[in-house]
Amino acid sequence: MGKPRIVVLGAGLGGTIAAYEIHAATKGMAEVMAISDSEYYSFVPSNPWVAVRWREPEAIQVHLPPIFARKKIGFTAVGAKRLHAAEKRIQLNDGSFIDYDYLVIATGPDLAFDEIEGLGPAGGHTVSICQTGHAAAAADSFDRFVENPSPIVVGAVQGASCYGPAYEFALILDTELRRRKIRDRVPMTFVTAEPYIGHLGLDGVGDTKSLLESTLQDRHIKWVTNARVAKIEPGMMHVEEIAEGGAIAKVHDLPFGYAMMLPAFRGVPAVRDIEGLTNPRGFIIVDRHQRNPAFPEIFALGVCVAIPPTGPTPVPVGVPKTGFMIESMVTAITANLVSILKGEEPKAEATWNAVCLADFGDGGVAFVAQPQIPPRNLNWAASGKWVHLAKVAFEKYFLRKVRKGESEPFYEKLALHVMGIRKLRM
Ligand code: FAD
Repeated sequence: MGKPRIVVLGAGLGGTIAAYEIHAATKGMAEVMAISDSEYYSFVPSNPWVAVRWREPEAIQVHLPPIFARKKIGFTAVGAKRLHAAEKRIQLNDGSFIDYDYLVIATGPDLAFDEIEGLGPAGGHTVSICQTGHAAAAADSFDRFVENPSPIVVGAVQGASCYGPAYEFALILDTELRRRKIRDRVPMTFVTAEPYIGHLGLDGVGDTKSLLESTLQDRHIKWVTNARVAKIEPGMMHVEEIAEGGAIAKVHDLPFGYAMMLPAFRGVPAVRDIEGLTNPRGFIIVDRHQRNPAFPEIFALGVCVAIPPTGPTPVPVGVPKTGFMIESMVTAITANLVSILKGEEPKAEATWNAVCLADFGDGGVAFVAQPQIPPRNLNWAASGKWVHLAKVAFEKYFLRKVRKGESEPFYEKLALHVMGIRKLRM
């Protein structure tokens, strides 16, 4: 009998390091392979920089096949068409099948642009920074925009769970426009489903409410919270401000020459609507050990995992799944797979803490939420130019590790650094 096969589905931020880490930890005990739908790994946190040409797409991408070949980890970029969980096999886009003994789903988000009329880059009227290709197209639109400056709208729509990059992008645009000396010709509005500025899907972290409110005020960016985007027409966003109880408190018709709105996320089609595996949005249901209760040979990590919201809000607001939390899921799954291969019960649990660096181009806000959902043991946020410098350093560090095929936890190091800075400041 051959060795058990562990398949990692998705080779993005979480899947790539999961394949490296699981391969290293299970050497001799299992065969590991990754299924991606692209030969390229993208460092998604740098996408906002691509959209203002502070980075070329190639600078934040890594060509994976040679690295996987060197590490002797199986790899295909054909992409999965459908998971057949009951049969423990995956149908690929070319019609072939891959069987697995254990599966780690790391497929990230499907971007639900279609849920709002006029949203998104394909047929809609807003740009996107969710994928590096989108961000490159957003840079082309930005080039045209600066020839003829006009209002900008940036934010995150109802049901979104990823707010940090929306703040980042608004403030990066502000920085870039000031550098170009055309900021005075660009009224800016931040539109968000969050009940207050700085909620971030986490009911705030430390002082993020006042830190982000004062930053937006300082940079002359107006805002609309509790926002539900009704529809987007060319150059016009129709937004409803929702009161407690769900009534429309106010309607805003916001003209724009350039707009970026983060969409709601859902599970990707290949794994959606599988009884017992996914919730109604297509996110993978996992227990404390990152394991699906209905299909115990399936684990999941990253944005594709189902996490309930922190609490009720007038407009639906999801919980973000950030790098540190994703990395802790990778570590837990690796330990649990090793236990199972040794015939033991899986015991490891992810920490699900949030450590985030939100870059504003010339400054930024860092926060640490431990655990991610309040009440917390550690609830800390701080701002300064050092955040921008830390994010640049971190990008370089992370990409170097991915290129080397190394599995050492990256975010844990970041957390220790950030907390070290905290100690210095106390
Ligand atoms: P992804 O990195 O999206 O990877 C999923 C992979 O699965 C992709 O490569 C995709 O192509 C592949 N896939 C999907 N379907 C299939 C299929 N059918 N077959 C094969 N492969 C498939 N977090 C932070 O901590 N710090 C940040 O600064 C930060 N910035 C962010 C900026 C942006 C613009 C966004 C959108 C998110 C940001 N996040 C940040 C949140 C989070 O860390 C990222 O979204 C991260 O990329 C999520 O990792 P993941 O592995 O879950 O998903």
